[in-house]
Amino acid sequence: MPEQAPEERIKNFKEVTLGYSLEQARLEASRCLDCKKPRCVPRCPVEIDIPGFIRLLREGDVDEAYRVIALSSSLPSVCGRVCPQENQCEGGCILGIKGESVAIGNLERFVGDHASAQADIPERKPDAKKVAIVGAGPAGLACAADLAKLGYAVTVFEALHKEGGVLVYGIPEFRLPKEGVVAREVDAVRRLGVEFCLDEVVGRTVTVDELLDSRGFSAVFLGTGAGLPRFMNIPGENLNGVFSANEFLTRANLMHAYSDRYATPIYAGRKCVVVGGGNVAMDAVRTARRLGADASIVYRRSEQELPARAEEVRHAREEGIGFMMLTNPVRVIGNDKGEVTGIECISMELGEPDESGRRSPVPVEGSNFIVNCDTVIMALGTTPNPLIKQTTDGLDTDRRGCITASPEGATSRPGVFAGGDAVTGAATVILAMGAGRKAAAAIAGYIGGA
Ligand code: FAD
Ligand code: SF4
Repeated sequence: MPEQAPEERIKNFKEVTLGYSLEQARLEASRCLDCKKPRCVPRCPVEIDIPGFIRLLREGDVDEAYRVIALSSSLPSVCGRVCPQENQCEGGCILGIKGESVAIGNLERFVGDHASAQADIPERKPDAKKVAIVGAGPAGLACAADLAKLGYAVTVFEALHKEGGVLVYGIPEFRLPKEGVVAREVDAVRRLGVEFCLDEVVGRTVTVDELLDSRGFSAVFLGTGAGLPRFMNIPGENLNGVFSANEFLTRANLMHAYSDRYATPIYAGRKCVVVGGGNVAMDAVRTARRLGADASIVYRRSEQELPARAEEVRHAREEGIGFMMLTNPVRVIGNDKGEVTGIECISMELGEPDESGRRSPVPVEGSNFIVNCDTVIMALGTTPNPLIKQTTDGLDTDRRGCITASPEGATSRPGVFAGGDAVTGAATVILAMGAGRKAAAAIAGYIGGA
């Protein structure tokens, strides 16, 4: 897929990848073997009929291809851009065994971006049963869309002033355009009859108990994500110039700090160190680079263990990001004004595999060294915010604070279902959508017909 050149794109926040033309999309679609038993479909958490939509695209029928995808996914333009396809559908594609898998994600993106078709608007009885969804991220949107299609009256309560969850506050504009892509796909969910109540912090402005007991909702789905950042608890972490990736990215994305048209303050510094190796770390470091910083990743394992998507790592390298592997911070250093001036790190080596199956990093004694920098961004993972647990009667969570739920999404509280990052901890868009869809089916089974 064509891309903006690295030396150009580090000066702007426009999308890096430019998308296929119709000719390119049909050419790529023509590589699909239309397998009788497609290995790609079971690897997709929402089970899109992949050969079905690719066949229609090959024939040039983009609208019909969209209708096939829309049966399973309400966010094709989003997923086509950010899903880790290499581990999912494309990882299963038969052509990948000896050569290159079909670029299923790029084709899905093309269909999402170019179709003018819309999903059919479902019929709804005036006295349809009401379902409340908490959180307008991928899990909540997928659950809402499926329930609306089944004829329920669905209301989504969202704490922020915009729908999309991490899609609007976390993933940067240069990977996922907000107006052109996220807002358009949220509008498609709205057209199904889903109502959105924004700036509603459930647990503060209204509780789950009130939704069920006095607001007339027959069931509640919790898709509240995992938005609480983790820190390292090392000395100096409270100095000026240390940020969580969440705060840094929220300022840049949701609050448009990168644009001259907005007054949101943001500080990337001259030299920025981002601690972590996942997608969040890559997004933070590439954002800092675009804001003018000389930016580097510090990661305690080796390149092989980097959890970020291979494409994001490649893009980061092309953009001049430094990678300090097998390195772990032990202290943030500051001046007498309380500002960051550096970070003390220690070299690591890999020991025995831990419970995640990856070899665990072990400090090399006496190998400490100092990296000069004026900002440090912690991208070490997130956990769910405890607010919902604290304000909902009888809702069990595990030791990480994640809501305990069955594979179908049922929680310990009758009538309350949950899915996505709120249950699994930080994961992926498509896993959250799959959980939202499963919970929608379970909710329909629990409350009966609309
Ligand atoms: P979220 O997207 O977190 O949405 C939860 C929503 O609930 C939010 O809008 C929040 O405001 C709202 N909410 C929370 N509490 C309340 C409350 N009390 N009342 C009302 N509303 C509430 N995944 C990928 O597949 N590919 C990627 O490339 C990728 N990159 C990522 C980059 C970043 C920077 C981050 C942070 C994550 C990334 N992920 C990626 C992970 C992915 O975005 C998440 O797994 C996914 O968004 C989870 O969806 P969700 O609906 O469970 O939660
Ligand atoms: Fe096409 Fe690959 Fe799926 Fe077969 S496995 S149907 S070739 S995308």
